[in-house]
Order: sequence, then C-alpha cells, then structure tokens
Amino acid sequence: MGGKEISLPPRPFSAIKVGVSETDFEDEPKKKREKMAEIKPADRKDFSEVELGLDEKQAVEDAKRCLECGCSKQNNCDLRDLSQEYEVDVDKFEGAEMLHFEIDSRHPFIEQDMNKCILCSRCVRICDEVVGARAWTLSERGFGVTVETAFNKPLQETTCESCGQCVSTCPTGALVQNKNKFDREFLWPPKKVETVCPYCGVGCHLELQIDEKGQVIGVGNLVGQGPNEGNLCVKGKFAYDFINHKDRLKKPMIRKNGKLTEVEWDEAIKFVSGKLNDIKKSNGADAIGVLSSAKITNEENYVVQKFARAVIGTNNVDHCARLCHAPTVAGLAQSFGSGAMTNPISDIDESDCILVIGSNTTEAHPVIGFKIREMALQKKAKLIVIDPRKIKLAERADYHLRQKPGSDVVVVGAIMNVILNEGLADDNFIKTRTENFEEFKKSLKDFTPEKVENISGIKAADLKEAALAYAKAKNASIFYSMGITQHTTGTDNVLSIANLAMLTGNIGRPGTGVNPLRGQNNVQGACDMGALPSSLPGYQAVSSDAAESFGGKWGCEIREESGLTVTEMTDAAHKGKLKALYIVGENPLMSDPDIDHVKEAYEKLDLLVVQDIFLTETSMMADVVLPSASFAEKDGTFTNTERRVQLLNKAIDPVGESKPDWQTISEVAQAMGYDMKYSSTEEIMDEIAELTPIYGGINHARLKGVCLHWPCPDDENDGTPILHTKEFSRGLGKFHAVKYRPPAEETDDKYPFVLTTGRVLQQFHTGTMTRKSRGIEELAGTAIIEINPKDAKKLGIKDGQKVKIKSRRGKIEPTAKISDIREGTVFIPFHYAEAAANRLTNDAIDPVAKIPEFKVCAVKLEK
Ligand code: SF4
Repeated sequence: MGGKEISLPPRPFSAIKVGVSETDFEDEPKKKREKMAEIKPADRKDFSEVELGLDEKQAVEDAKRCLECGCSKQNNCDLRDLSQEYEVDVDKFEGAEMLHFEIDSRHPFIEQDMNKCILCSRCVRICDEVVGARAWTLSERGFGVTVETAFNKPLQETTCESCGQCVSTCPTGALVQNKNKFDREFLWPPKKVETVCPYCGVGCHLELQIDEKGQVIGVGNLVGQGPNEGNLCVKGKFAYDFINHKDRLKKPMIRKNGKLTEVEWDEAIKFVSGKLNDIKKSNGADAIGVLSSAKITNEENYVVQKFARAVIGTNNVDHCARLCHAPTVAGLAQSFGSGAMTNPISDIDESDCILVIGSNTTEAHPVIGFKIREMALQKKAKLIVIDPRKIKLAERADYHLRQKPGSDVVVVGAIMNVILNEGLADDNFIKTRTENFEEFKKSLKDFTPEKVENISGIKAADLKEAALAYAKAKNASIFYSMGITQHTTGTDNVLSIANLAMLTGNIGRPGTGVNPLRGQNNVQGACDMGALPSSLPGYQAVSSDAAESFGGKWGCEIREESGLTVTEMTDAAHKGKLKALYIVGENPLMSDPDIDHVKEAYEKLDLLVVQDIFLTETSMMADVVLPSASFAEKDGTFTNTERRVQLLNKAIDPVGESKPDWQTISEVAQAMGYDMKYSSTEEIMDEIAELTPIYGGINHARLKGVCLHWPCPDDENDGTPILHTKEFSRGLGKFHAVKYRPPAEETDDKYPFVLTTGRVLQQFHTGTMTRKSRGIEELAGTAIIEINPKDAKKLGIKDGQKVKIKSRRGKIEPTAKISDIREGTVFIPFHYAEAAANRLTNDAIDPVAKIPEFKVCAVKLEK
C-alpha cells in the first residue's frame, strides 16, 4: 500500500435525499463487511485468534488501525469499506494535526463522536434539505471546520426532531445510535425483515433488525422505498422498545376475587365464549358491543367485524376512527362519493400551493411534514397554514392564519367568498363536473372576510391574501386532520373543504386534491374493512343489497339497522342496555372524551373483554384480558392514509403466549359455535377481495414488492393513486351550502379559556407503545399545557410550573409550557394518563358523524 491517488466516488444526492447509508452502497465493500460480521463481538478485540484467509487478515489489520480509537460503527462503516477498497495509506497523514472531541452521549438516541467525522456534511444537508429541522451546521473555517449544533448546545435542546436521519446517512461512526440504548452485545449482522411502521397513518416502510435471541434491536431505513422513500421519524426509527418490553402481556388473564389472574388459553376462551353466549341468550345480540382497532391489520379488522355481525349478530361494531375521521368518511362521501385521501403523498412535489388546516403535520404525520416543509423551504410551493398555534409548519409558511377554535366553517367560507368575488372560480369545472352550485353560492354571501374577522379573529386582509394564493396556484392541494374533524361541526368543516377544492377545480389532478391525514397506522384500513356500525367492508351499507352477499358467504342474516357508535356504546352501558363490551386493541379510558363518564359506564358492564399487548388503562378494569401479538410478530396488511395497501411481514415469534388478534377472535367464534377457521391472513384477504369491490384485485401475492392504492377492482387493475380524475365516485361532485354553528361549549366568566387537544411528535396516541421507551420519555415524558405568554403573565404562571386546569367534567394538573399559541386558547396533548386531557373534554357530538368535540371545550386555569 502507499502513495496511491485517492478519488472517492461521490455519493449520489438521491441517496442523501432519502437518507440511508447502511444499505445503499455497492456490493464489494458490503461483502467484506459481511465477512467481518461473522466475527462475534467478544472476539473482535483479538482478531488474531480468529482463523482468517490472507485477504481477511489484511482487512482485519486495516480494521484494527481504523478502530484504534474505539469506533462503535466497526461493522457498517462506509469510510472503512472505502479505505480498504481504495487502499488508503494512513501513514501518508502522519504528523498532521489531529482534532480531538469528547464523545457526546447526552441525546437519548443519537451519539456524536466528531473524531470520526470526515466533514462530508451529509448530516447537515439531510437535516436541512430533507427534514427541514436545520439542527446541524458546519462551524468555523479551514482546518477547524466541525459539524455542530447552534452554540454547541445538546442536540435535544436545538431544533432537532430526533428522527435519526443524520445517523442513517452518516457514512462513518461520527453519528450513531446511542450505545447506551444497548445493555448487551449481539451478533452482527442482525437478521433483517422489511415491514411497515406501527405508528401513524403515513405507513413508512422500515427494516426491523433482530438479534440472535429474536429481539428487535434496531430499525433501518430503506432507501427510496414506500411512501416515505426511506425517511423515518423519531417514533419509527427509535421507539421500538415496546416490542420486547418486560411488561408485554404473555398469558391470558381472568379477574378472580377482584384480581386479574393468569390462566391457560383454553380456560379464557371457554369463559369468554360462555359469557357472550349467555348474555346474547338473555339480553339479545344488541346487548353486546365490539370495538375493533385502527392498530391491527386489515385481515384482523375484517375478522372482528365479521365476529360482531355473523357470530354475535349485531352491528354494534365501531373503532376509534369515530373519534378522528368519521366526518371525513361522512363528508367526503356526500361531496365526492368516497371518504378518503384523493391524492398520493408523492403528489406533494407537484403542488404549487399547499393549504394545511387543522393538521400539525410535522408532529402527527412527520414524514409528510418533512415533505411539505421541504416544498416551503425550497420555495417550490406557497404554504398556507391555518391553525391557532404557531406549529412548526407555520414557521415556514407564507401565510399563517390563527383562527379561533371552532370557526373553520366561516374561515373556509370567507376564502371561497373572496375567490368567487375575484372571479377566480373554475367555471368550466363547476359546470361540467359538479352540481348544486347555485344554492352553495347563495350560502357564501354571509361569509365576507370582514364579517368572518369578527368570528374567527383572522384579519380580513389576511384571509383575502391567502384566498388569492390558493386560487391562483396552478395546482393547489389541501391537507387536513383532526383540527378539522374533531368538532360538533366536523362534517360541515369537511364539506366546506370539499367545496373549496371543487370551486377552484383543484381535484382529480396531480398536486391537487383533498387530503385527510389519517391518525393511526391502519385507521384507513379499519374503515375499509367495515369496522363501522353502518358499513360492511368497502363502505357497503348494512342496509344495501350487498348485505345479502355477505350474509350468504357468512351463513347469517345481516341486520339492516346501523349499530351503536363508540360513544353510543358508552351511553348504552351507562343506561344498563349494553351488557358486554369486547375491545380489541383500543384504550377508551384514555382516548374517549369525558373519561370519568366512560369509566362509570364500563363499571356497569357484566363483561368487559380486552385484547391488547399491554395492561392499558382500559384492560386494567377488564374481566378478561387476552394477550395480543404486536405488529412485529404477525403478517397481514395495513392501508395507509393515501389508500395504499401494504404488506406487513412477521419478524419475530409472538412474545410469550400472545397471539395475532385474528386467531384469538376465530377461537372465541369457534367456541361460541360458529365455524370460523382460517389457516392464514392470506386466506382472509382472499375472502375480503371476494366481497369488497374496492379490494377486488388485492391479494398477498400481488403485494410482494408493490403497493396498490384502492380502488383496485380486479387482478388486471394496478390500483388508483388519484381519485376522481374524470368523474367523481358519485358521478358529479356535489356542492353543499353550509351554515356556521358555534362550538357546543363556549367560554364564559367561569370557564374563560378554550382548550384544544392533540399530539406531540415523540408520543403516540394513548402512549401504550411510546411510553415504554426510555428515550422517548426522556425527550417528551412530561404532561404539558401550552399557554400564551400574555395569559400566563396575567395568571402569574411561569414556565415549568404545575397548573390546575378544570372543565365542567373534571380537572388535571399538567406542567406549564409558555408557547406561541393564540391568546385565550390552551393546548394539552392527550397521551399522558397522569394528566389525561380527556378528563376535561366534551362528549357533545357532531350530529352526522357522531364524533365528539375534542378540539373545543371551556376551561379555567389556576396556578
Ligand atoms: Fe412511523 Fe409515521 Fe414516523 Fe413514518 S412518519 S416513521 S409511519 S410514525
């Protein structure tokens, strides 16, 4: 070796853009790496003891030198691989000055060892150009250049979003997953299984890394794959501790003498089936309710709703979409004929103007948030954000309109009023593609920007500017989430958004559309599979002719009347009409409004059965708890927010004696006397396809390596990424005249603040999974309340102080976080049981979609 000119090939930017280093390099170094990987960790310190060939010995010599300073990335360091490949002579650099840095392990997930940094600036670029967090920078000049955070602060005190994209793209050991995460060594390389993230509705593809003991020890990014193109957020990348957590449920439990006691599966199944049969016999099938789940697979949701309808004989089946996007299903079905996202995520690139309303996208759907923020940062699209809080996207927006919570109908109404008056409506689209325009047009007269300013608090001039930006864009898209739907006017809000898209002809083309972002990994799929009281799979009404086909296949009669929704089941239990509730993977004692009322109702049940992976707030009060397998332990499909059906792959065996939910339900059904036998999830999907036209062409074999957006009616069809291109699902799009209704509970002297609830980036839903992660808890383990600085000053509240907050229903004590939120409004994330926001929220519901008003209730605050 020695003296050879070095010219390292530049890494293509696309690889930087999508963010991975471990899996995207050429094969030759990878082979060497794999040979090295055969060495057990314990043996790595003394390579001479390992029997190797000549080439290998040389590689080991190189590695020893490379690893002199204790690099933790010895098995997947691209720099080392390239040094070997290009025969780099280290002696050539002898005598040069060396910079020495302390290893920084303060971040719970990311360790910085800048001694290993080669200043390629991939971390800076990915954080800047892809994520948009801008946490890293190149500091100093000349030989002293280093990669640093602003003022060299700990990473978690900067704008860092802990997504680990910098770790994924770092080609050396300068940025690695924090070693403190591992309390033991394991063999490298781990087994790798590609699957789908279990958290939000983006449905990111990822790679689970599994050690020799069958434990998940890491998550790899998959370059260019899936809706995320390889990018991941903090939850997908790091919050996997729950899978092998010591508290996972491992055996069934039955309450005996007031205590949940472990029993064998046979006893549990016999007990549950016997009790359900008894209750059905003495009180009728409608005395039983079933809650399915937005976290379980399509196949499991299908089996759960079939269990309710064919085995128990009731349409009392619902799930937590009722609490998030029921107005989307109801509203968009009325306007377009289909209640789902109209365009694929990748279409964001084609948008000239992006309107985000009621969605804290960078925290609730982070990878979509990256993309929208990238468009704004790179000035590729105008960004309009309508939100009472200065959310992260608002920092990058061209227009940030801060509405009073509950005034969305008038805000969107004013935008449409301006568009119409400025002559910016798409007359041709309205004429050829829509109906009921004249009636709708009349309804807009009252929504002048000046009048709306009084209701919403947004200045008339700002409303006008935003309206012009949206209407003048060649392709404008709308993204919304629960800030729009979780209101007593949720359906009206959705109808208004659909009106806006049709008024400007922004539907049916790339870069346009109405895009509801679904909250959980499979909330779209759970709705598609008919885990709804009025719909069979594929949104076929229980009262429609389709019921006959289902009845024929299942050997039962489908009841024509809709069943009870989530909140109606609670009320029925309270009144003693509902005697049994069977819950699969939901935690209503955290997720439902007015949870003290829910608790009282559940206490009155004769039987509460819960299937879950942990002892949740709800399962703690159950009569029977049945352990479920997590996403890593089963196969099947999830359907993400953009209607993309994706294959889930089993990575490890179920923990303890837990089982996939479809197996447990089938066993209970069998024990109740119904012949429900499936040999695999593949077989279940074939039955779904047979009965569900929008899934007609979907089967597991087709999904290997591809994803299909429904509707996909047959095997010849490749799916439909964009809906309503030539005509709407209902034929003509329908305008609706929408009137303004104030929220169910307004502020008064006694309760002068508006409370709105939501999520934070690091935690997920009721915290069942993320709160098992030490690192996540370190980053966001405190239940906070966001308060405007002026309000805090008036009340004498300081940042970090405990605050008493009361509503008409309950009280909690979160910790104050002074933030840039609209005056008179406070925000509480709903993940924290110790200060559960839903103790305060109002269970008043939207009359159409029956969703509770989580986003507005009146509260008072005390120091
Ligand atoms: Fe998982 Fe959503 Fe994060 Fe993607 S954006 S990694 S799906 S939580």
